[in-house]
Amino acid sequence: MQTKLKQLAEHLGADLVGFCQLPSPPVKQFPNGVYAVSVAVKLSDAILNTIENQPSFGYFQHYRTANTLLDQIAFRLAREIEKNGYNALPVAASQSLGKNNPYAGLISHKTAAVLSGLGFVGKSGLFLSEKYGSKVRLATVITDMPLANELPIIENGCGECQLCQRACPAGAIYGITPTTDGERNFDPEKCSRYMKEHFQDIGRGSVCGICIKVCPKNKL
Ligand code: SF4
Ligand code: SF4
Repeated sequence: MQTKLKQLAEHLGADLVGFCQLPSPPVKQFPNGVYAVSVAVKLSDAILNTIENQPSFGYFQHYRTANTLLDQIAFRLAREIEKNGYNALPVAASQSLGKNNPYAGLISHKTAAVLSGLGFVGKSGLFLSEKYGSKVRLATVITDMPLANELPIIENGCGECQLCQRACPAGAIYGITPTTDGERNFDPEKCSRYMKEHFQDIGRGSVCGICIKVCPKNKL
């Protein structure tokens, strides 16, 4: 079944697909949902090149299109899982749990992608895929269909690099390697506030992309 799901996701446009078991159910109302399918789509290099010292209109539109594609892929994967007798909950690429928790969703896509062996979380707080670096967007399907990880977990590979910290105009990146104990290495409020203050007219102040653009782990 994993092979079938992977083929379907790739047919629909996914560039990376992984599977994992989660440490605990992320959705209270779905207690048996402890497995996840992680999908990624690669962003356009030419679009990322339009980001210089500030976000670009092209990037904002591309970001939204990538989210829509991911949402469609997650929706179709969830339907396929249901047709095979299991439950599945597709989680949108761009999530928010409302004004009390605006920077979190039902599940961390990055956590699911890391547990699926697709990459690691960098000092920028971005997910860095083994294959494309940070030039990806993610979505997740939570399910009770037993799934097994096919890839080894990848350790953080930032090393001594500090490029994203130096490039961030908001000072939102602390330049430290993420740890599993919850220590913050990135300040989402600072990032969002800066963009709203300076780039409200581009992407409604909600996307920037500079930390994606500068990362040397990016690959074609
Ligand atoms: S999106 Fe822009 S402002 Fe936010 S952390 Fe990245 S570089 Fe900094
Ligand atoms: S720019 Fe350097 S420190 Fe930042 S995420 Fe990429 S590799 Fe890691």
